[in-house]
Amino acid sequence: MKAIRRFTVRPVLPEPLGPLNDLARNLRWSWHTPTRELFEAVDPEGWRAAGHDPVRLLGAVSAGRLAELAADRDFLAGLDAAAADLDAYLNGERWYQRRDAGLTGPADEAAGGPGGELPAAVAYFSPEFGITAALPQYSGGLGILAGDHLKAASDLGAPLIGVGLLYRHGYFRQSLSRDGWQQETYPVLDPHELPLTWLRAPDGTPVLVELALPAGRVLRARVWQAQVGRVPLLLLDSDVEENGPTEREVTDRLYGGGSEHRLLQEMLLGIGGVRAVRAYCRLTGHPEPEVFHTNEGHAGFLGLERIRELIAADAGGTGFEAALEAVRAGTVFTTHTPVPAGIDRFDRGLVERHFGEDGELPGVDVERVLGLGLETYQGGDPHLFNMAVMGLRLAGRANGVSTLHGAVSREMFAALWPGFDADEVPITSVTNGVHAPTWVAPEVAALGAGKIGAERAEQALSVGGSGRWDAVGEIPDEDVWRVRRALRGQLVEEVRGRLRASWRQRGAAAAELGWIDSVLDPDVLTIGFARRVPSYKRLTLMLRDRERLTRLLLDPERPVQIVVAGKAHPADDGGKRLIQELVHFADDPRVRERIVFLPDYGMGMAQKLYPGCDVWLNNPLRPLEACGTSGMKAALNGCLNLSVLDGWWDEWYEPDFGWAIPTADGSAAADENRRDELEANALYELIENRIAPRFYDRGGDGAGLPGRWIEMVRRTLVTLGPKVLAGRMVREYVERLYVPAALAHRRLDPEAAAELAAWKYRVRTLWPYVSVDHVEAASAGAAGGSAELGATLSLRVGVGLGELRPEDVEVQAVAGRVGSDDALADAQAFPLKPAGGADGEGRWVFEGPLALDRTGPFGYTVRVLPAHPLLANGADLGLVALPAEAAGEHAGVLLR
Ligand SMILES: *Cc1c(COP(=O)(O)O)cnc(C)c1O
Repeated sequence: MKAIRRFTVRPVLPEPLGPLNDLARNLRWSWHTPTRELFEAVDPEGWRAAGHDPVRLLGAVSAGRLAELAADRDFLAGLDAAAADLDAYLNGERWYQRRDAGLTGPADEAAGGPGGELPAAVAYFSPEFGITAALPQYSGGLGILAGDHLKAASDLGAPLIGVGLLYRHGYFRQSLSRDGWQQETYPVLDPHELPLTWLRAPDGTPVLVELALPAGRVLRARVWQAQVGRVPLLLLDSDVEENGPTEREVTDRLYGGGSEHRLLQEMLLGIGGVRAVRAYCRLTGHPEPEVFHTNEGHAGFLGLERIRELIAADAGGTGFEAALEAVRAGTVFTTHTPVPAGIDRFDRGLVERHFGEDGELPGVDVERVLGLGLETYQGGDPHLFNMAVMGLRLAGRANGVSTLHGAVSREMFAALWPGFDADEVPITSVTNGVHAPTWVAPEVAALGAGKIGAERAEQALSVGGSGRWDAVGEIPDEDVWRVRRALRGQLVEEVRGRLRASWRQRGAAAAELGWIDSVLDPDVLTIGFARRVPSYKRLTLMLRDRERLTRLLLDPERPVQIVVAGKAHPADDGGKRLIQELVHFADDPRVRERIVFLPDYGMGMAQKLYPGCDVWLNNPLRPLEACGTSGMKAALNGCLNLSVLDGWWDEWYEPDFGWAIPTADGSAAADENRRDELEANALYELIENRIAPRFYDRGGDGAGLPGRWIEMVRRTLVTLGPKVLAGRMVREYVERLYVPAALAHRRLDPEAAAELAAWKYRVRTLWPYVSVDHVEAASAGAAGGSAELGATLSLRVGVGLGELRPEDVEVQAVAGRVGSDDALADAQAFPLKPAGGADGEGRWVFEGPLALDRTGPFGYTVRVLPAHPLLANGADLGLVALPAEAAGEHAGVLLR
């Protein structure tokens, strides 16, 4: 029988245990070990049964046990301490409140010097959030990163508001068929059993956000609130009785459904999300966000909603263009992937229908909406509405997520800035980080705390700052190795448990599974590989030469064991085939004690897996891994990385931290098969000849410890550790993006925004008349084709500005190294000054010195850019005038 209704009956806690409720509702428990230990003490058996979820635990614990605890002085003392600690965490001053803690340099100036104010609030939008396994609203890296971002912001005291959707089925749970084929199930999540509360009006009714859809339909959503330390996370849920059946299903699952379904999800996230933020601020008195940070294109409609607000607020006084300027100034867009499948593109007609006449945004012309997202550039498809393109056009500031990914993104989106070289495309980068208190195993944290004290260790993990880490370098070899072995041992237990459950589920009888007791060995070199299974991540690269892999696994002297996990997208049969291949290999009785595939990769598994591995393997197709974060989490636990030089590893790899798998280049790179073969061989070579020998080298010190290995572990913890922190990442976002965006947004009051919009319109209209007519260079010390270091060229440049004025433009000399094709590299721009007035036809002379300050082939050119004090950068309008001979084609490539 099935129930027709369900309720959640909440426990009534005896009065002295009241604070347990607050501790369970604030997700800080998920990264605060003492609070988790307190919950475990409530009922150790129940804690395991509840999957380490405090809300479920409290729902299940018996009244008798609660009465016992209410009279247990030791427990109550621990409870008081935890409650006081949470209170101090929530209300104390943190980095953001003590601005001296790091806001120096350009950001400080941008904030107006010491008196400048930091953003009052920042709204952070993402389609998924991975905070804890107890709130399964994520599929992979993007969601976990968003969760880590909120947690680190909370630790730093940065006033973020997270915004996302609540998916009733979350992402799918993965299991395997007998034959190793991925099976998907979608358990229903009851929000009342999750650490969530409704956002309510003062009269107690839940807030309802509404969106108008075509043909008079309405999409409604309630707003759930999760509390992530100091940071509220608002999640919109369309599964409400007020909705029609189709609308109820809008938030059914993450990354499911067809085009229209996705569009509705994204409209709800972007437009509904802004409305939820407004309701939250109104109801709680939280300051309104000055900056909106959109992650990947999915939330991009938030910009349209803010444009609508501005137009509506001013009853037609503010036009679309002015509103767009005001909104762009306060928007940050982060692109998270160069893989085309990660970018949503909708048919023009679909978008037209939803934003047309009776659509959602009255007062906003649908043609303007389309103009923001259609691929109206060279190489694009003008019938497609591209969410990343709209993201870039709606954001005054944009970034990729590692140095390499920044460069790849500039290349990929260069077509949006015709006339500019890719390296001038205004997309910067902030390298991702991971939230150490979430990802560092308590045993590893305790090693550090033993050296520098618990409080400083907590600071070091959450806020960062390298000085604090050095003491970790003094931890003796024995201690490091003891912890590493213990973690490996825990992983072995975890793997056996999960593998047994998986085999039972695949239909094996308990009696057939005796062999599982000898799966993996706590003393064998352990390699981990776990991630989603899109083809570029190459799950099965390790299977390229099965005999060779088998020899590595079964080596009598230096065996290797491998733990693999990962989910394929439900619609990706190619990915499922890769999983099946791996499972078939791992099922083979010859090797099954040395290689395992664990189904249902998620945060809970990840937290055991990273610390328990000795080596973390990553072999993506370079440069498609935008950043990658699992290797960072592994490194923070003293696991060494073995990876292709892609994403973050390209930036921070050092021989002390692990090994770089060489990438095939030249002609081999173009031949997929050949490239995989070369890279797989390099992988085997490294494991066989470098990694295993070092791991098993129990040197001459008599203690039987692998001294050189331990030294690498130590270097990884001390030197790499501080770089990979989410605290470092969020501080960078604050200083380099949020503060400048807030400042720009403040400057653009409606009047200034209208002025800027009018100026842009004028400049765009008149730009065809701008030209560089001639360039003269008089030299001291330069003759013919050569010059001496230290010489100076005096440039005189004739430019035609038509009706524009010199203050509308910047005329620049751009100089740098030149290659044989005359392309400038490492170029720097030097502004030239107007000399005298114009002739009757708008022709001006600009002049200035150009110092020849480096040796070797050197070249320069001259160009004219639009200039205005309120522009975020010179490429903002995508307009440039070059001398006729230099105006080549600069069509960027949008990968597809
Ligand atoms: C960190 C993490 C990821 C992302 O890993 P990548 O290295 O970026 O692929 C995915 N899933 C889980 C559960 C994670 O913890």
